[in-house]
Amino acid sequence: MNGFPAIQPGPPVATGCVDTEVLRERGQREVFCGLTGIVWLHRKIQDAFFLVVGSRTCAHLLQSAAGVMIFAEPRFATAILEERDLAGMADCNEELDRLVHQLLARRPDIRTLFLVGSCPSEVIKLDLAKAAERLSLSHHGRVRVLNYTGSGIETTFTQGEDQCLQALVAEMPAQSATEPSLLVVGTLADVVEDQFSRLFEAMGIDRVAFLPPRSATALPPVGEDTRVLLAQPFLGDTARALLRRGASLIDAPYPFGVEGTLAWLRAAGRDFGIAGERVDTVAAAPAARARKALERYRPVLAGRRITFLPDSQLEIPLARFLATECGMRPVEVGTPYLDRQVLGGELELLGGDTRLSEGQDVDLQLDRVRVDRPDLTVCGLGLANPLEAEGLRTKWSIELVFTPVHGFEQAADLAELFARPLIRNERLAV
Ligand code: SF4
Repeated sequence: MNGFPAIQPGPPVATGCVDTEVLRERGQREVFCGLTGIVWLHRKIQDAFFLVVGSRTCAHLLQSAAGVMIFAEPRFATAILEERDLAGMADCNEELDRLVHQLLARRPDIRTLFLVGSCPSEVIKLDLAKAAERLSLSHHGRVRVLNYTGSGIETTFTQGEDQCLQALVAEMPAQSATEPSLLVVGTLADVVEDQFSRLFEAMGIDRVAFLPPRSATALPPVGEDTRVLLAQPFLGDTARALLRRGASLIDAPYPFGVEGTLAWLRAAGRDFGIAGERVDTVAAAPAARARKALERYRPVLAGRRITFLPDSQLEIPLARFLATECGMRPVEVGTPYLDRQVLGGELELLGGDTRLSEGQDVDLQLDRVRVDRPDLTVCGLGLANPLEAEGLRTKWSIELVFTPVHGFEQAADLAELFARPLIRNERLAV
């Protein structure tokens, strides 16, 4: 696939989607729950353990999403609520304490333990905040016990990370330094985090920390001199928790694609008084490499119509990337929640003729997909097979969270994720 014309970064659309009327739907939804976040969170925070307090369904979801780990000690598990617990015939708190004592005795490497709530634990109103407090006290000095909810009641799967990080914000020490520091928020693969660290350092920002950190015991400080730069668009509650701790939020698009990454770095630079020219100089080599790598996929993607069903909350920044850098035409961009506080920078860049929808009424939405017949539909696993059976090409949205896709070096990999089903379709059609 060599020899295709060079990509010219598309100009931002003048009008943007800021004032576009949003189609709001509140009906049946087809999404995964917040427990899914444990899959990437447990890989990132290497001294943490995630104990889901849930049912066999929750355990099954986690096992199938994360795979079975054979060679390493697992860092997640499910404390299964049995029928007696659900019927209120057993003391769940006693059972939970016993289990946690057993776990900690066997696993001295655990420094932070997350009790993760689920639909069943919420339905029986098991107070995991109280349990975390009680267990923190009884294991004081040995392990910190925190809690958050990953329940599927009124949430979508990326909200698990938002809830987990919010729990960590409450534990972050107060900042004592008076020099500004940069806090990049959102789980990034270690290799991507290292790439960004090098870029920030070359720009002249040397006080940089990441949330979540690789070790939950090394939480960065937060205070009035902390500048928050979001790396993921689904962390609105975490951002607001950081603002309540005195930090300020940098208004920026997200680092997807070459231009998105460049704009993200420039926004950080602006906040630290660094000239745009310096940022461009630092980013010139990786950006040029990334533009060249992207060239391979533009002929496959340009002019193709794409619909995003609401699932990962990555839909708006990804649609912007595909439209402005790959020449795709977003037909409908659905998002579970439209949080303008953290998406304002993206809405300005997305074309004004794109249909934006928030929430879901799955039957109505599928009817629109059938009328639109886009070349590619990005959706959850549950909807992909039925749509494929109707002759529509699909992409699983969950892959976009499991794969490193941020930054310059990953821009072509991101484009490839969307190109792959289209290429496969063409091969099958020959
Ligand atoms: S938390 Fe709720 S939605 Fe998620 S697996 Fe458990 S029961 Fe299902």
